[in-house]
Amino acid sequence: MTELLRNGRTVLVLWALTMILGYYGLGGFLAETVEGIGGIPVWPTALFLALLFVSLCASVMWARRLKAKPEPGGSQPDAPPLASGRRRFLTGTAAVTGGVLGAAGATIGRVSPWATVTAPALRQRVALTDPNPRDDWMGARVRSYRPLGDTGLMVSDIATGSTRIQHNADPVGYLKGLLDRGVNYIDASPDYAPESEGIIAEAIAGRPRDRLVIASKFCTREGHLRQGSRVAEYVAAIDGTLRRMGTDYIDVAHIHSCDTTQRLMDENVHEAFDRLEQAGKVRYLGVSTHTPNLEEVAETAIDSGRFKVMMLAYHHGAWPKQMDIIDRAAARGIGIVAMKTLKGAKHRGLAEFRPEADSYAQAAFKWVLANPSVSNLVVSFYDNQHPDEYLFASGKTLEQSDVAVLTKYDQLIAGTHCFQHCGDCLGACPSSLAINDILRYRMYFEDYGDEKQAMQLYAKLDQQADACIDCAAPCLGSCPQGVKIQERLIGAHEKLRWA
Ligand code: SF4
Ligand code: SF4
Repeated sequence: MTELLRNGRTVLVLWALTMILGYYGLGGFLAETVEGIGGIPVWPTALFLALLFVSLCASVMWARRLKAKPEPGGSQPDAPPLASGRRRFLTGTAAVTGGVLGAAGATIGRVSPWATVTAPALRQRVALTDPNPRDDWMGARVRSYRPLGDTGLMVSDIATGSTRIQHNADPVGYLKGLLDRGVNYIDASPDYAPESEGIIAEAIAGRPRDRLVIASKFCTREGHLRQGSRVAEYVAAIDGTLRRMGTDYIDVAHIHSCDTTQRLMDENVHEAFDRLEQAGKVRYLGVSTHTPNLEEVAETAIDSGRFKVMMLAYHHGAWPKQMDIIDRAAARGIGIVAMKTLKGAKHRGLAEFRPEADSYAQAAFKWVLANPSVSNLVVSFYDNQHPDEYLFASGKTLEQSDVAVLTKYDQLIAGTHCFQHCGDCLGACPSSLAINDILRYRMYFEDYGDEKQAMQLYAKLDQQADACIDCAAPCLGSCPQGVKIQERLIGAHEKLRWA
């Protein structure tokens, strides 16, 4: 070992290994931690620190045994003397400093793409509101309450989500203000934003609990519970939510973002719900679902007789079958909660739409609420102006002028964006890309300002859209809406990929 360390190449190799481990090992895990995909990387960190320590010791040992430079023309003794103490100290310091900086640089370099992508994304706020709100919007409040199916609960026709509420400078005061204006339905989930449950807890503290309707999900802070999760895991997820929200019960527990009937009818989640219901911790079972399996999942949920609430993406442009599902569910006493009602929320980004953009959200809400089978809609409130702008639509009737605004919006976005996420194109892709999901994540990124969430979701896909780059695109023409699938997917990959 000592002989080896006399040769500086060993030290160089050790530092190179440390840098490689820092970049590919620790850096990779840290990047996942930053993005919330993984936990604290204990073992990669320990391994990296151990190798760093070995490299440091090796550098010191090598420097301490550094030989003096031979005199030019002088005789070469068998064992050249050691270099001066000062030279050994300076060389050792330089080796250690360079090595540490290199290893740290490699680790940070691996994480840095997130600093350029995520940090601005976290700072960015999508301008969804009118910069010059109208005076008559001021102080708007809920004007209509509707039955949530046959649960006996009455819910505000416009309800608040909690995905982005923490973006407000005073989220607790902001949520209290919404409740004061009559919003009584809060849609929550532990995986939306870690801090949202604490915000809700503070905002509802001291208020009569029976005047509020709180919906949450069978999720943990890490994400949805998968099909086959143990009963105890489902129960623990809800117990965690109750503890963090400081409430004894939630009104609705959704099986979240459910795309298969197998997950919908997972006997463990149903047994967990039964236990929670008997314990008085959850009142009603719900399901939230996206397309393309929306029809199958929703029909199964209706026929099962187990569900009392259904949360569906529903906006102007819903396809006829979706209308049938909603009407059938409502007829069976299932409360319909509409989400994603702003159809991509592109109204502030369309130059030709500026004159209409101010009233778009209100027109879109009125369209959704014009369906009497809909109980209410959930939208993300977080901007100080949202309460005035959004709640002004509460209890209002859809007018011809609103329809004109929505029609113009549809004309401007025609053929460019996948809003229905219907999945009709899926069979045309030999690479089995989840086209609908990828385009939905792109919508989260571009239109909702949820860049981090979009990139996390994209990172979890088995197959990403780089497959489209050299593809002959047999999917061409497979979208009834005329979406240019290959072009949109390649663009999605550019935005969503883990750099
Ligand atoms: S691209 Fe078109 S066919 Fe494919 S999911 Fe979107 S709307 Fe449906
Ligand atoms: S272009 Fe993309 S989505 Fe279309 S067939 Fe090829 S891989 Fe599938």
